[in-house]
Amino acid sequence: MMKRYLLTPGPTAIPPEVALKEALPILHHRTVEFATIYKDVAEGLKYVFQTKNEVYTLAASGTGAMEMAVVNILSPGDEVIVASCGNFGDRWIKIAEEYGVKVISVSVEWGKVVKPEEIGKVLKSNSNIKAVYTTFTETSTGVANDIKSIGEIVSRTNAVLVVDAISGLAGQEFRTDNWKVDVVVSCSQKGFMLAPGLAFITLSDKAWKLAETSKIPKFYFDLKKYKKSHAINETPFTPPVTLIAALQESIRLIKERGLENMWNDYKILAKATRAGMKALGLDLFGEVPCEVVTSASVPVEIGGEIVKTLREKYGVSIAGGQGDLEGKIIRFAHMGYIGKADLLVGFACLEMVLSELGVKIEKGKAVAAAEEELLKA
Ligand SMILES: *Cc1c(COP(=O)(O)O)cnc(C)c1O
Repeated sequence: MMKRYLLTPGPTAIPPEVALKEALPILHHRTVEFATIYKDVAEGLKYVFQTKNEVYTLAASGTGAMEMAVVNILSPGDEVIVASCGNFGDRWIKIAEEYGVKVISVSVEWGKVVKPEEIGKVLKSNSNIKAVYTTFTETSTGVANDIKSIGEIVSRTNAVLVVDAISGLAGQEFRTDNWKVDVVVSCSQKGFMLAPGLAFITLSDKAWKLAETSKIPKFYFDLKKYKKSHAINETPFTPPVTLIAALQESIRLIKERGLENMWNDYKILAKATRAGMKALGLDLFGEVPCEVVTSASVPVEIGGEIVKTLREKYGVSIAGGQGDLEGKIIRFAHMGYIGKADLLVGFACLEMVLSELGVKIEKGKAVAAAEEELLKA
């Protein structure tokens, strides 16, 4: 028996109020009771996404919604831009190529942020481009892309802008409509403070126009089916009723705190986390750090060892690096259901583990630096 702390960039811990909803008896989905919950959730999602358009919910992990954002608006042979700066951005390339879509990559080195003006240049030189795919907060490296500027550029063309906001939504300022984003995807186990299993997608009118001509084959992921059912507060296939009931509660909590306040809460946690890392002598990784996860470089590639020891000895889960960054960075998340105290616990244990692994640090320094930032807020 070990007390567990989840400081990973998804899944995140979930509030007890939300967990309790997951434990209630199963509702049948073709009932007034379920339709009432579904309707409330649909309204709430619009608030979290900051859009007037409908947001559709389906049973899938976040990648399912990403696949939906490809198969519903494109046809084989279409040309798209993918602006990637990490593992999740690269996933757009893999999905698109799987369906015979031609990808023009405007990618940057992992740790950097994508360049809006590069996207603009490619769009200018190629009027055939149907869509631009990118990532809001690139969880694999811990950076945030300037979606507002990209939206400004893409909206002046015929292309649509598709954004993976899976880890950033509810955690960092994101405005679908104001920032002129056409398609946004997210899912349940990050900012929404819910168990994994639900994915979300929203489309602008401009994107729906593309959907009308899309020829990529699809069945379960056919958004038109979801749109039709959504209008009568249903889903085309059996929805994960328990998760949707729990989502109603997590949205209630988000509304109660208010999105702006939440964005600010995570900003404070991010500042404290950065201060803690610096106090340990660890260099922050990433050009423009996001507010939901902090990446730091660790000496001599002991990232994996740090993550393993923290989890096994202290019950604290953080994440290491992915792909080429394996062993080289650690990622300390401050997304979802997480508070100031969790962060201090995380740093105290991280200090112990670093000492155990022979890294020269002064114990208490990271905790003190984080406290300093938290006290300022
Ligand atoms: C977690 C994450 C995903 C993948 O989500 P799954 O639920 O594992 O499919 C995609 N993009 C980003 C930015 C993420 O953080």
